[in-house]
Amino acid sequence: MGWPGYIPEDENEEQLIRMELAKMNLIPVFLTAEDLEGYYEGFSNKVLWPICHYRLSYAVFEKSYWLAYQKVNQYFCNIVLKQNITSKDELRVHDYQLMLLPQLLRQQRSDLTIGYFQHIPFPTDEIFRCIPWRNELLKGLLSADLIAFHTYHNAPNFLNSCLNILGLSPKNNSVRCRDRCVHVEVFPMGIDFDKFKALSCSEVVLAKAEVLKDQYQKRKLILSIDRLDSSKGILERLSAYESLLQQYPELRNKVVLYMLVVPSRDTVTQYKLLRGEIDRMVGHINAVYGSDDWTPITYFYNSLPVEDLSALYIAADICLVTSLRDGMNLVCKEYIASKAQDYNGVLILSEFAGAAKQLSETIQINPNAIEDIMQAMHFAIYMPKLERQQRMRSNVSMVKKFNISHWAKLFFARLHEVKREQEASA
Ligand code: UDP
Repeated sequence: MGWPGYIPEDENEEQLIRMELAKMNLIPVFLTAEDLEGYYEGFSNKVLWPICHYRLSYAVFEKSYWLAYQKVNQYFCNIVLKQNITSKDELRVHDYQLMLLPQLLRQQRSDLTIGYFQHIPFPTDEIFRCIPWRNELLKGLLSADLIAFHTYHNAPNFLNSCLNILGLSPKNNSVRCRDRCVHVEVFPMGIDFDKFKALSCSEVVLAKAEVLKDQYQKRKLILSIDRLDSSKGILERLSAYESLLQQYPELRNKVVLYMLVVPSRDTVTQYKLLRGEIDRMVGHINAVYGSDDWTPITYFYNSLPVEDLSALYIAADICLVTSLRDGMNLVCKEYIASKAQDYNGVLILSEFAGAAKQLSETIQINPNAIEDIMQAMHFAIYMPKLERQQRMRSNVSMVKKFNISHWAKLFFARLHEVKREQEASA
């Protein structure tokens, strides 16, 4: 169940969407433009997203956003409860847009099994406590049986919030809330490894990758792909690339930064400003360092079909991820899966991306240290083939093993187990 990403014009269209989604066993939750403005653009994107990504100064604590968030969470709850749910069903609530849903469901159905997975970071309690409605949000989550995050430090952050904001003492990765023991655990999410590996062998994709390689000839191709978002460290990356061209003039005309920025939330002022600043920096670098036969940065503000993404992953010598904060970062795992044929690629990865905790054979950087990103690029460009392949082999085996099915199996099995434990101790 979820918002289908579209506002139907009339009831006929709504019905049509409902029927199409039903074929895939999906149930739409239709929202009005007004709901979306307060709930999604407002509370989700202007309160929870910046707070969870440690961008306190971006947060807008507007009461009307909170009211819309409560209303839409309640609306989701009503639609869930309209389904024919039995106490044998397990409900899995995904992400920060639905933090109140576990409590709303529990209030009406104490028999339900509820798991919550947060795909973005959970900040330290000192940051989370800045939200005027922090108590309500924490209590909303604490009606789940299992609360899960991508990486280790998120779980203690959440438990510290329970302790220091609600006064609930954690015990062994769990917290007692009224009569129930709520487990707080970690399940790093993976990707569909087989899909990206298969794509990287397909004729269509390989032909596209050849075109890219021809286009850039023998130059080293550094790839970055992310949504337009201040948490992705795009400006820091551009500064580091400019420093590279300044400090190592011999690399001019020998490297290209291929930067794909996927449009996102660009009606929000801060995102619009960020986009303008990226345009300015890309224009500046290309104008100052470029020559008749070389443009230092290829930049697209666009989204691409998966075959084109796969071709980029294959063609890229280096993938550069500079997130200032990132729940997991799937792009870097997709890059690795696409290198499972020849292991020929280097990943530079921010230590603030969840994936960094799993991918130890990457070049890890602090994205705030421009000099370090620059040196990491230099190191990656000159890394000997044997080392590149050894490191990539190790990364490939991690991404292959901890894939999306593995994640789903672990999370669902644990939710099941937690419920059995609760029943046994009742
Ligand atoms: N992606 C896409 N189209 C594009 C570029 C990227 O579908 O043109 C996908 C990419 O394959 C990845 C996701 O967007 O699966 C980005 O996920 P990630 O965890 O890296 O960042 P998020 O956007 O969730 O913060």
